[in-house]
Amino acid sequence: MFNFAQIFNFKKKYHFVDKCPRCGSYKTGYVVRRSTEKAGNKAIYEGLINGELVEPELGVNFGDIENNLFCHNCGSRWYGDIEIKYLDFEERIAQRELRGINEDLITDYSILSLDSFERRQAIKIMNREKRRVEKARQKAAIKQENAVNVKKDNVKIKK
Ligand SMILES: [Zn+2]
Repeated sequence: MFNFAQIFNFKKKYHFVDKCPRCGSYKTGYVVRRSTEKAGNKAIYEGLINGELVEPELGVNFGDIENNLFCHNCGSRWYGDIEIKYLDFEERIAQRELRGINEDLITDYSILSLDSFERRQAIKIMNREKRRVEKARQKAAIKQENAVNVKKDNVKIKK
């Protein structure tokens, strides 16, 4: 049987890009170099699922990328550091929301050169995870409510 706690606590590598220095938005991401368009699409797709905005640059993976960071909100591009973090499931979903990664972005954003299969897959996975988090939150809320009720009952018995 699968273990909820394990899924939620499992920490995964995350490429954290700070907020845009120009407009302060967190709809920021980073450029990766890939040799083929297919590999570039894969990078976009995997980034979205992980809560990262990724833009591929076609070429040989050699040397620095001049402006490696970008902002989807104001269109700025600049050079900066990508911080490596290890985030659990909920933290990654929070990053996704922070960076405006949702169904609309995947369907509409012209920068995302995913084919229709990749788009559908990404949306499917994201919706499934959203439901999973919602369920876990409800479960936690019920647990808390029960704990409060037990406390109330104990108080009654004492009286
Ligand atoms: Zn910006």
